[in-house]
Amino acid sequence: MFIAGLQRTTLIDYPGKLACVVFLAGCNFRCPWCYSSELVLPLKIVSQPKMEEKEFFDFLRERQGLLEGVVICGGEPTINKDLPQFIEKIKKLGFFIKLDTNGSNPKILQDLADLKLIDYVAMDIKISPDSQVYKDLMTEGVTIDNIKESVEFLKNGKLDFEFRTTVVNTVHTKDDFVKIAKWIGGTNVKYYLQNFRAEKTIDPAFEKIEPFKLDFLKEIVKKISPYFKDCQVRNA
Ligand code: SF4
Repeated sequence: MFIAGLQRTTLIDYPGKLACVVFLAGCNFRCPWCYSSELVLPLKIVSQPKMEEKEFFDFLRERQGLLEGVVICGGEPTINKDLPQFIEKIKKLGFFIKLDTNGSNPKILQDLADLKLIDYVAMDIKISPDSQVYKDLMTEGVTIDNIKESVEFLKNGKLDFEFRTTVVNTVHTKDDFVKIAKWIGGTNVKYYLQNFRAEKTIDPAFEKIEPFKLDFLKEIVKKISPYFKDCQVRNA
């Protein structure tokens, strides 16, 4: 388990809960617009300072009764084989767990849910499922069927969850969102659009890309809202 960072407090990353965010290094995707190259690219990961687990758990013990939840974020947390044991230790301290995932490991998602180790899941939907872009992002044998399995698991399971997409100009079209809505939509589904910010990105070419106008995202939301329980532009 490579703990690459800790955000000590957040009011916005875990719906309805005061939480901290722990960042685990390593990812099986290579989204060119990703802001977290230091958590994704092996050459950058090795030059990251690593937080010892002891330091992290000491921090949590000090925050018992103050923080309600822990957001487990990456990179992609589910590539860590010892994730269940890691979460179990956090759970024993009485914290709620939110898992942020790209949906590439449906089996681990199911195991964590069966073991009652996760309380909320935020799954990234990158683009429409038939898009070549999705295939190009995935590494290490991940397939679109893995992603579809995670979507079905969340939609049909008992966990509280949301889907979300970072909307990137030059990558996404309005059509993509209609296809996404038909794929992931449901009366129990919350879906949020987050506008891309032109910050440091894995592919530096994306740093020059202008975000979409907010009106464009609102137009999409208006069009696809009927497919969802809740659909909004977030953090715009
Ligand atoms: S899945 Fe997330 S962390 Fe991994 S490359 Fe894509 S945006 Fe970055």
